[in-house]
Amino acid sequence: MKLHEYQARDLLAQNGVATTRGRVASTPAEARAIATELGGKVVVKAQIHAGGRGKGRLVAENETAAMFQKLTTDPANHSGQVKGERVGGVRLADTPEEAEQAAAAILGKHLVSIQTGPEGKLVKHVLVAEQTDIAKEYYLAAIIDGMQGSALIMASAEGGQEIEVVAHNNPDAIVRVPVNPTAGFEPYVGRLLAARLGFAGTQADQFAKVAEGLYKTLMATDASLVEINPLALTADGRVVAVDAKLTIDDNALFRHKDLEALRDKDEEDPLEIKAQELGVANFIKLDGNIGCVVNGAGLAMATMDTIKLAGGEPANFLDIGTVNDPQRVVSALQVILEDPSVKAILVNIFGGMARVDIIAQGVIDAHRQMKIDVPVVMRLIGTNLAEGEKLVEESGLPLIRASGLFEAAKKAVEAAASAA
Ligand code: GDP
Ligand code: MN
Repeated sequence: MKLHEYQARDLLAQNGVATTRGRVASTPAEARAIATELGGKVVVKAQIHAGGRGKGRLVAENETAAMFQKLTTDPANHSGQVKGERVGGVRLADTPEEAEQAAAAILGKHLVSIQTGPEGKLVKHVLVAEQTDIAKEYYLAAIIDGMQGSALIMASAEGGQEIEVVAHNNPDAIVRVPVNPTAGFEPYVGRLLAARLGFAGTQADQFAKVAEGLYKTLMATDASLVEINPLALTADGRVVAVDAKLTIDDNALFRHKDLEALRDKDEEDPLEIKAQELGVANFIKLDGNIGCVVNGAGLAMATMDTIKLAGGEPANFLDIGTVNDPQRVVSALQVILEDPSVKAILVNIFGGMARVDIIAQGVIDAHRQMKIDVPVVMRLIGTNLAEGEKLVEESGLPLIRASGLFEAAKKAVEAAASAA
């Protein structure tokens, strides 16, 4: 689950990270009031679940695709200012009136950045925060490094730009320090990072405190990523977080009921939300036209690869897991059928703990409970195969059968092509 900047910065602040003062607004008048409260000189920032806002562009809904094309094809278009001609979703305002105008220009528009995709994102909130007089921009992030089984802090003196660009052009400019999970954040970690970035004296102390707060935030929220880019060294010598990004591991959400309220469903894919509501946890929407119902993430990957090998494109990744309730299969098919781009469905089941007959019953129940007007290809193997086969045969439904995975994928691709 991704958070907005205004939410992430509050969590960082609670864990000891120095941030600017600021609050979220949903109308220009509110933005003006907050700016007045903060003394007038503020930055007004679009709140969307995507980065690259500063270099993005605000457009009407029907112009997003063309703008995305422009940003991604010509690097010259991909630049940004906080004030002036090439201003995007992050704007400096020197008076409450300017803050109101900036908010009016941002709210209700679609912000397109290289991270939003061609649809862009509708901006419904802006963060109004104290302006920072930035002398230098740094990058600082904490992630869970699955390979090492620990948290990893990454930092760079080349902040402000996308870290992928730094990693590509100058990989040595990124410092990586793991944090021992048993010992926790020891003082040397902060000192080492500070020294490697060139901080000294009081700035090194301030930086170390930010790094520790970042790590605490990662642990406290079960985040997979917490990022501050840029972390600013201000003209008057302070080290302050100017941006914040935080992604919580969905698998840990059950133990963070308090964070659940921070979810912004408007930013998420409606089909993925529906899947979660129906208890189909592993559903990811993709761009193709073959819907997949598969058990196990590995088999889901193999199925998608095989569809591609057979010349097709999967419309989704759906792992129904170890199902022993036919209704779960019905729910899975219901989610897939809501996607208008689906022209065929491939059910690929390897029955282990899950039984083939239960899955078969689910597919049959789905046909009885709703109108399924796309062809369904079934490839079943494993536990209770004979019972499953029998159910399918007796149902009299026009299910397309296949015994091998490649055969099944080919049949699904053909069915989708003739239906399209
Ligand atoms: P992003 O583009 O979505 O990553 O949004 P950021 O919050 O990182 O803002 C983009 C850029 O705007 C930053 O890298 C800064 O250079 C600039 N910026 C943001 N806030 C301020 C501010 O308070 N003062 C100044 N001078 N620049 C800012
Ligand atoms: Mn940023």
